[in-house]
Amino acid sequence: MSTSELSLLGLEPRVAEGLKSFWRALPRDKCVICGSKASDIDEFWSYHVDSGRGLARIVSLRSLCGNCHLAKHVGYANVTGRLSEALEHLARINNSTLSDVYTHLEKIYETWRSLSSITNWRIEISEGVLPGDIRAEVENALNKLLEKNRWKRRNL
Ligand SMILES: [Zn+2]
Repeated sequence: MSTSELSLLGLEPRVAEGLKSFWRALPRDKCVICGSKASDIDEFWSYHVDSGRGLARIVSLRSLCGNCHLAKHVGYANVTGRLSEALEHLARINNSTLSDVYTHLEKIYETWRSLSSITNWRIEISEGVLPGDIRAEVENALNKLLEKNRWKRRNL
């Protein structure tokens, strides 16, 4: 999470500072996927859809190396011209072929398209992911941002 992403949340200074110092202190010793030196923190999300409503939950935070983080965000890799790099890393760490990666990618895009068709989402942050004194405020800020963006999409 970058400083500019934090500013989008509109957090009270106490909460923003608490989140920043918590985030900076998270261990980045080893990538949980490939074992390389980690550099990034990534949110691990779970998604649930019920009766047309979505619940996106941050269930944990994990340390990733830059290559695994890029490979996790293939859409971002694509728009920044780094898709080949991300897919080659996926093939390497899974000991598979690029053809296998493309097959898997189609399944991922299918899931992404299905989840993207849901317009009514709510975000939760699981207990223990963030310090207790800021978790609810960050969760509320994420939901306000989500609502604001939903309103913008409806009115474009
Ligand atoms: Zn890695």
